[in-house]
Amino acid sequence: MKEIILIKNGEIVLKGLNRNTFEDILIKNMKRALSDIGEFTFTKSQSTITVENVDGNADLDDAVDALTKVFGIAALSRAAVAEKDMDDIKRVTLEYLSEALKDAKTFKVEAKRSDKSFPYKTPDIQRELGGFILSHFNHLKVDVHNPEITVTVEVREVYAFVRGNNIKGAGGMPVSTNGRAAVLISGGIDSPVAAYMMAKRGIELVAIHFASPPYTTELAEEKVMQLLKKVAKYSGPITTYVVGFTEIQEQIRDKCPEDYFTIIMRRYMMKISEILAKHQHCSALITGESVGQVASQTIYALGCTDAAVNMPVFRPCIGMDKVEIVALSRKIDTFETSIQPYEDCCTVFTPKHPKTRAKLPEVEEAESALDEGPLIQRAVENARRTVIK
Ligand code: ATP
Ligand code: MG
Repeated sequence: MKEIILIKNGEIVLKGLNRNTFEDILIKNMKRALSDIGEFTFTKSQSTITVENVDGNADLDDAVDALTKVFGIAALSRAAVAEKDMDDIKRVTLEYLSEALKDAKTFKVEAKRSDKSFPYKTPDIQRELGGFILSHFNHLKVDVHNPEITVTVEVREVYAFVRGNNIKGAGGMPVSTNGRAAVLISGGIDSPVAAYMMAKRGIELVAIHFASPPYTTELAEEKVMQLLKKVAKYSGPITTYVVGFTEIQEQIRDKCPEDYFTIIMRRYMMKISEILAKHQHCSALITGESVGQVASQTIYALGCTDAAVNMPVFRPCIGMDKVEIVALSRKIDTFETSIQPYEDCCTVFTPKHPKTRAKLPEVEEAESALDEGPLIQRAVENARRTVIK
């Protein structure tokens, strides 16, 4: 019995981006997600894309698992291929869905007929197959409103497909239908979630991480790479920069008033990120900030951080509570990695009384002691680039 995967597209709302472009990008992303699993073909028809393993050797459990992380897919389902013949449809239904039907109490049959020459009309298929299923599974009852399992038969051009319940897709829009943005990634809980959320909206990710050895360790950096690997299951490959931040942090410590350490450091992160982001043709920055979470995330501090750059800054976690962010981080499997206790450079030289009501002119005055140009230039020049898959 041949089995395939049917993909139901998600939202296609962007004006100017036509359905074809959207689907082509989605197919490219699916191909990439399946590249380690086997060779697959992709066939578009109406609002579904049919995914078929070329040699029949690939593990479809793995394929489905990978595809549930591809954005732009509303729902997917596995289906068995039958001849366009009522007896074969019955045979395949029995072989393919017996286990699921045994476990269910209620079911219904839904038929779709795109080949109008098929001798059975839609209600006839439903009646015929429904009766057949009832005759084989005495315990089952038909429930047309809220069935535990919906057996769907699609009679298409060449074959008929038989399938059970749908699997929920990742939703969102295909990555790279909405441009590129650079995420400032720490080892914390929030920034990987922020990265995931923006990738879900079709944004291709570049990542920037600041490390301050010897204050931060190689293990902390490794942790960030592990987090990015998990995000990359959704977003596709992530071009990643690691920026040495030690010199800048030491200079801030030595030359600036202590209360302003954190906010000045945040502004330097933004300025350096803006330059790297532009190198990578990114149109925005992404951070994991949430209003009021810490002193550097008061509405005033965020204003001072924004003022450091001339680029939109996306903060998808801005209105979320920590519990909501944690729930998402568990969902995308970054939580356990995020809570490993390695120091982030943000926790180096933290002031005892950070400014919570920072005003921009005061911040600019406080950072004026730094020789900004060369500091930033050195950090940018020495940034190390890798691609995380
Ligand atoms: P997170 O859980 O993402 O670390 P947080 O609540 O701990 O967030 P901060 O540590 O103040 O908040 O950092 C705020 C944001 O600044 C982070 O979400 C991230 O986008 C960015 N950031 C913090 N530290 C780094 C770093 N070392 N490298 C790159 N970006 C960072
Ligand atoms: Mg942090």
